[in-house]
Amino acid sequence: MIDKQPNDNPIETGDQPIIDANAKLNALLNATVDAIIIINHLGIIELFNLAAERMFGYDAASVVGKNVKVLMPEPYQSEHDHYLRHYEKTKEKRIIGIGREVKAQKSSGEIFPIELSVGEVKEASHKQFVGIIRDISEQVKARSEAINNRERLAHVTRLTTMGEMAAGIAHEINQPLSAITSYAHASRNMLESCSELDSKNHARQQKILSTLGKISDQAIRAGEVISRLRGFVKSKKEQRAPVDLNWLIYETVKLAEVDTRLLDHGIELQLTNTPEAQINADSIQVQQVLFNLIRNAIDAMDKQLNEPVCIRTRWLDKETIEVSVSDTGQGVSEENRSKLFEPFYSTKEDGMGIGLSISHSIIVAHGGDLRHCHGVSKGSIFAFTLPASAI
Ligand code: ADP
Repeated sequence: MIDKQPNDNPIETGDQPIIDANAKLNALLNATVDAIIIINHLGIIELFNLAAERMFGYDAASVVGKNVKVLMPEPYQSEHDHYLRHYEKTKEKRIIGIGREVKAQKSSGEIFPIELSVGEVKEASHKQFVGIIRDISEQVKARSEAINNRERLAHVTRLTTMGEMAAGIAHEINQPLSAITSYAHASRNMLESCSELDSKNHARQQKILSTLGKISDQAIRAGEVISRLRGFVKSKKEQRAPVDLNWLIYETVKLAEVDTRLLDHGIELQLTNTPEAQINADSIQVQQVLFNLIRNAIDAMDKQLNEPVCIRTRWLDKETIEVSVSDTGQGVSEENRSKLFEPFYSTKEDGMGIGLSISHSIIVAHGGDLRHCHGVSKGSIFAFTLPASAI
């Protein structure tokens, strides 16, 4: 409960109350969260409240008497005098009485978005304008994040559709590839069964047989690439089974080699076989983690051609294997390290920022951990652990 004090309403009595009223007004102006700035008809600052001091980084004493343009970046700064004169002449309002989103400038030079509403003080002894200013940096940031997230989501949706289509396309391509293999095989058989050949034609026959063999080998290879891709994009329920880790790494590398950028780097494998490790895992999910890490390593080394992506495995103890993917790329700054596994964190123009967060959750669900360390001299090492047993 608030007690009403005697003399609580001092405006009604003598000189003192006027001083008190001024003090109250000042206290009120200084208590507002919004910045309040009063200027005269020439734009000279006459009042600068506490919130304005905090927002702009100026002491009231250093800006009162100066033109309000010091708080504006270009083009507002150059246009302001003209705007005031134009208003004097025509009374045409662009901000006064309306309010708008504009940019302001701090004493540090930092430009930030504000919502500005301006009113004309009509009963003052001279013409004054009062500006009420709200810093909307947070709202603008949230708005642009929402737009970014929407764009990223649209990209994910497009990729998902492409992924679903890829399975269908792969199926369609597999048919003609098997036909090529069969025709090449049949042609070989037909040629081999031709008995009436002179020695000159015999040599040619051998060449054709060998070429047909190559056609068939290449079609089989293309078929394998496609079936690997189909297996990778096919959505299915998580299925854990014992799997040979080295085999899984070789398979993922073959899958990653579809990205021709890898030709500029190559992959260096240092896989332990003393003893070899077996993991109990959903092999597609673990492949996905490794695939993401390899692609991120290639992205990070876009300026370091000829430097390989290294994949190593080592036993941490008898039941834990570590897989690491290292690169000599741009690395990760200390400031950004904590954000790496956050969803939608990306520094790439077309990045979605979900690869590492999904990879992290896959590894944690398998009873392991995924971490980042700085590379030995430069670049990054992403290492994950998994429970494993010796084969
Ligand atoms: P995306 O690749 O779509 O950006 P990720 O979640 O895979 O999403 O990666 C998030 C961010 O982590 C990347 O944008 C990048 O800034 C950083 N990052 C990931 N891997 C590396 C790496 N090997 N070297 C440097 N930065 C990396």
